[in-house]
Amino acid sequence: MTSPFDLLFQPLRIGPVTAPNRFYQVPHCNGFGHRQPRGQAAMRAVKAEGGWGVVCTEEVEIHHTTDLSPFFEGRLWDDADIPAYALIADSIHKHGSLAGIELTYNGHTASNLYSRAAAFSYRSMSVAGGSGFEPGQTRAATKDDFKSIRKWHRAAALRAKQAGYDIVYVYAAHGLSLGFQLLSKHNNRPDEYGGALENRVRFLRELLEDTKDAVGDTCAVALRFAVDELIGDEGMTYDGEAPEIVKMLAELPDLWDVNIAKWSNDSSTSRFEKQGAQEKYISFVKGLTTKPIVGVGRYTSPEAMLSVVQRGLVDFIGAARPSIADPFLPTKIKEERFEDIRECIGCNICVTGDTRFVPIRCTQNPSMGEEWRRGWHPETIAPKKSEKEILIVGAGPAGLEAARALGQRGYRVILTEAGREFGGRVHRESQLPGLSEWRRVVDWRVTQIEKLPNIFPYLGSPMSAADVLEAGARDIIIATGATWRRDGIGRSRQTETRFLGENGFLPVFTPDDLMSGKLPTGRVLVYDDDHYYMGGVLAELLAQNDCQVTLVTPAPTISSWTEYTLEQDRIYKRLLALGVTLIPYHVLASASPEAATVHHAITSAEQTLPADALVLVTERTPNDALFRDLQPALAEGRIDSLRLIGDAEAPNIIAQAVFSGHLAAREFDEIINPDVTPFQRERTL
Ligand code: ADP
Ligand code: SF4
Repeated sequence: MTSPFDLLFQPLRIGPVTAPNRFYQVPHCNGFGHRQPRGQAAMRAVKAEGGWGVVCTEEVEIHHTTDLSPFFEGRLWDDADIPAYALIADSIHKHGSLAGIELTYNGHTASNLYSRAAAFSYRSMSVAGGSGFEPGQTRAATKDDFKSIRKWHRAAALRAKQAGYDIVYVYAAHGLSLGFQLLSKHNNRPDEYGGALENRVRFLRELLEDTKDAVGDTCAVALRFAVDELIGDEGMTYDGEAPEIVKMLAELPDLWDVNIAKWSNDSSTSRFEKQGAQEKYISFVKGLTTKPIVGVGRYTSPEAMLSVVQRGLVDFIGAARPSIADPFLPTKIKEERFEDIRECIGCNICVTGDTRFVPIRCTQNPSMGEEWRRGWHPETIAPKKSEKEILIVGAGPAGLEAARALGQRGYRVILTEAGREFGGRVHRESQLPGLSEWRRVVDWRVTQIEKLPNIFPYLGSPMSAADVLEAGARDIIIATGATWRRDGIGRSRQTETRFLGENGFLPVFTPDDLMSGKLPTGRVLVYDDDHYYMGGVLAELLAQNDCQVTLVTPAPTISSWTEYTLEQDRIYKRLLALGVTLIPYHVLASASPEAATVHHAITSAEQTLPADALVLVTERTPNDALFRDLQPALAEGRIDSLRLIGDAEAPNIIAQAVFSGHLAAREFDEIINPDVTPFQRERTL
């Protein structure tokens, strides 16, 4: 039987190699890098197993003068690095996919904190790598230096070939690599590497020619090229120099992997961009080359994927995040199990693996990053070990995932939820501005739960300890979430804020109030001592509802942690466009009837801010009363096990609640020794 999606499963030649289908996992960082090759190999293997026809590494440094520490990227500095990268290629080949490797020489975006070498750039310029503000400059590359870099790139390409890679990248994207940096209009070197566009393209052309010459007999050579930097005439533009560059290099690479720069634009979150957002920029490329094209756009809908290929914009569906949220996405399309696709929600928690230097995590896919160290697989799980029945209280992300995974194991599960909707905090938060795609965390789990006859969900069922005991189950999981505090206690102050909530003083609201539709009016001061998305999102909500909003935070920047999810710039832009007044570095001190007093986080200088209401985004109190109420029953043997999970155990991000629910399901009926590290670690000695 034919399916319209057959088109996505047609093989396609890329130079000397052939991709088995059109699903292409583009290079993406993962926090494993050269430090944890086994972790990375197992993660990439799962993608290949799930049907991604091409699976690539992250950016891989070619030489010690392009050391990207403190980030953990790949390394092929010398032959000793080959076995680790061969392990990754082998793990991809085992499932019949092509292995791609993204070689890079980063100029001023390499910190060289580890190697202590001077990086090369087209002029001596400030080092941005690492923090973005590293104290130092690169050395200005001479023509001999360019020759050296070309030699190192060629040597790394040969190592990549030896390690077994089928596709070798030349990298000119994200503003990171020297090949891209030289393209800059600001590159006014007087020699043949600067000035006229032809000169600025020269180094990139040479890298492509060298790589083809070195490995092109058996390896495809891909060019990853950012066609726009979204900074107008200051940078690369899709309707300016980018088409000129594509014309100049059109047939040189075997594949064009095109996107936009910088990384925060390429991987924008769903709060700011929707599926297919890059189409406008990359669509011109197809008309200028006969070589296959891969493009990304956080495509999770099979129809959208089919459409972008049918419309002739790309030949391959490029994906990083959709392949992280669902490594088995291609298989599910092939088997027409569309409702089983675990759609990426566009939150960029995966990105924080790289930006926080830890193995990759994913909100939707709790097995991501756990493939090797815990042996987790996104689709399979150990079958049940007993006929026990489990009662789970609370159907937020933690309770839903615990129920789903226990149900998948074959256990009989009763899931009770006080509210009239599944999803807990995700149900509520996904109604906030820009966060609607987060709803997918609930939708996917509820769809799976509905398919499993051994899970019995009950909405509108608040449970007391007596109710739990009366229900008769002997194994209980408590997933009752957390409640936002309204006393001002948080990261920046350990005592209650004076006069809060007192009669006649400023009315106090919490995120829970706002999410349940109770909105203040007039001049509203949002106090963000949480520092992730919530403070900024609520400021946005209030501004949209005609409040005059002031956002105060003790941190030096607004929505501080969103720096790691690549959202911070856009949050600033949106809040400023909405007229929100931003006051960083200030701690809430006290409230009066018509104002709040704040003091500077360092100097303690006080400021009075007139206000009609105060919204406190500080800490959350775990809802663990039910867990505590059931302790005596556990002690008396009236129940066999009792486990607290998710935000009720320790309030955290949604990804952690899902992980916690999944862990509880995996560990059920197992004897867990808390003295033993529950996962294997990669050691060199
Ligand atoms: P988590 O992120 O840990 O999953 P949430 O706050 O999202 O936590 O979800 C907790 C869910 O538990 C909420 O939907 C809430 O209505 C529900 N809940 C809390 N207490 C009870 C209770 N006693 N009985 C049933 N459901 C409860
Ligand atoms: Fe998508 Fe979020 Fe998972 Fe990243 S962490 S793949 S953005 S769901």
